[in-house]
Amino acid sequence: MVRTRFAPSPTGYLHIGGLRTALYAYLFAKKNGGKFILRIEDTDQTREKEGAVDVIIKALDKAGIRYDEGPIVGGDYGPYVQSERKQIYLDYAQKLLESGDAYCCFCTKERLADLHEHGATKYDKKCLHMSKSEVQERIARGEPYVIRQNIPEHGSSTYHDEVFGDVTVDFSDLEDNILIKSDGMPTYNFANVIDDHLMGITHCIRGVEYLMSTPKYNLLYDALGWERPVYIHLQPIMRDATHKLSKRDGDAGFEDFLNKGFLPQAIVNYIALLGWNPKNNREKLDMDELIELFSIDGLQKSSSIFDEVKMRWLNSLYIKELSPMDFHDMAMPYYEKLYAGRDIDYAYLSELLQSRVEILSDIKERAAFLDAFDGNAEKPFDFTLFVNKKWKTDEAMAKQMMDGCIAATKSDDISAALNSLAEANGLKKGQVLWIYRIALTGAAATPGGGEEMVKLFGKDEALRRLEKVKRALA
Ligand code: GLU
Repeated sequence: MVRTRFAPSPTGYLHIGGLRTALYAYLFAKKNGGKFILRIEDTDQTREKEGAVDVIIKALDKAGIRYDEGPIVGGDYGPYVQSERKQIYLDYAQKLLESGDAYCCFCTKERLADLHEHGATKYDKKCLHMSKSEVQERIARGEPYVIRQNIPEHGSSTYHDEVFGDVTVDFSDLEDNILIKSDGMPTYNFANVIDDHLMGITHCIRGVEYLMSTPKYNLLYDALGWERPVYIHLQPIMRDATHKLSKRDGDAGFEDFLNKGFLPQAIVNYIALLGWNPKNNREKLDMDELIELFSIDGLQKSSSIFDEVKMRWLNSLYIKELSPMDFHDMAMPYYEKLYAGRDIDYAYLSELLQSRVEILSDIKERAAFLDAFDGNAEKPFDFTLFVNKKWKTDEAMAKQMMDGCIAATKSDDISAALNSLAEANGLKKGQVLWIYRIALTGAAATPGGGEEMVKLFGKDEALRRLEKVKRALA
């Protein structure tokens, strides 16, 4: 059975690239009737943040990526948090010490720094040659030490990656990296191998930064007599041709995009296509369709550039297909923040806005007309708005139209009344509509025309506004 995992470190933040790795691992497992596992890699205690595991769990939940095994839900291969597996790693490190595939290293920070200063690019295996009795003595004396992997000095190793093909690395380019730190905690380099094996991971899907160190991990699989997983390394998401999308740009986090008013389904849909090609030219795909279509051979070898404009477009499709009620519920917190205490027909405003915003935070701009002029407070009305080159309208024409606009507003069929008004004055309907809408709102851009605005404000308020403009123009 296919088993994949997502193995984030709890940094308090889920990068959109991490979310995509999780998504691909999930899609691959589900496509193949397998299981998707969440494993928390928290062995670097200095990086850990309070509540950071929660951030990951909540993000996956919002994204609709459901894990079959992991923290909280448990499973047969737990615990799923690495800091709770310390003894397991120590036991396997012991085996590697016995077989000579690892060794204890007592070198001090000073010695290592000195090595580097003298041009060494990697550890010189000094402690590999220490006698067993000396090692035991120094441990007994309580000297701090680490356990290092003993990597052959010569030769090379080739393995197959499903995206990158055959990858060959010379052992001379690899360092005897630390497996167990002096605090007894494993490093990623060790824990990933132990856990992927013990958790029955069949396909290891992760970032390309591990592509060249995978031969080190393969040596560990071999030393322990374990079968290696299938490797699938993924290219990063880029901000532009040379920079990765990074946290420092302020918007590389899943939460950042949710806060901007993107819908989780749209983000998932967009990032799925950022690095994977479904080969059917479709761009809007829900989770079930993604599972159905997902395949490793659609994964791209080159990195992809994040395009927020495109994600906005995709988001607008998801917003359009929300039920009016759902859209209204999502828009409400924005209204509350923008228009607290004002008498606005929010339900109708939602009707007007749903097809006109790409992301929820567009509401602020699309509904800015509400702040342009309210017919009541002392907000200066911008009369230059009556000047429209295309329609050849101006303030004088507006002045002449105001009584007609007021009468039309009072009638039962505003549209017909505005038609007659245009005819009676030898004007085009567009000219009258322009003047009418500007007089009602004092804004150049509104969602919908004058009639919609009357519906939104109510007739009384609409008339108050028109009267005010009429007085100002007189
Ligand atoms: N904890 C590693 C990371 O966050 C996971 C890499 C992997 O998936 O093996 O980069």
